Amino acid sequence: MSVTFSPAPPAGGPVALGASLECPAYPPGDRRYFADYDAARAGLADHHRYCTHPDCGEHAYRPFVVMHYNTDTEPSLNVGIGNAMLLLRALGMVAELGADDVQEPPPGAPPPPEQDTPLVGELAAEQMLGRVELALALAPADAGVPTRDLNAAGTVVDFGRRPGYLQDRLAVLREVALFARDQGRDVIWH
Ligand SMILES: [Zn+2]
Repeated sequence: MSVTFSPAPPAGGPVALGASLECPAYPPGDRRYFADYDAARAGLADHHRYCTHPDCGEHAYRPFVVMHYNTDTEPSLNVGIGNAMLLLRALGMVAELGADDVQEPPPGAPPPPEQDTPLVGELAAEQMLGRVELALALAPADAGVPTRDLNAAGTVVDFGRRPGYLQDRLAVLREVALFARDQGRDVIWH
């Protein structure tokens, strides 16, 4: 489970620019670019002329169509749930929780219902930018969390968080907010 902060989709949705084929057996083999999904689908029939990798076509190595959109290169930030809560708290959006109170949910735990979670939201870019700038100005330098064993045998390890992590992520989130503001869009996360 993770959370992605990104600009809201443009009005009318992302615009498809074209399509290509991706072959897990040998990605650089077939570099053709197609006008649309149907053309790329048709191009699958010729894939073997461009990709001669011996594993091509086996089980997990079947080529597939990848669509390309005008939003693909927009800035975004993807973090795990625990670090998303750390960020949201630094942004003043999880006031009731301390960052140290938040732990990754145990594996297999059901996700919280959407309406109750701060992990899904939308904010005007200008407001997000203001919160990011404030967080950067106010938050003490992130000292990080050291790696620690979660059981006596040392087979379950919390890898912690490196120093400066929060400031680094906030800087990326600022890029997301600046881009969204330039485009006249909100910032969303989910
Ligand atoms: Zn192939």
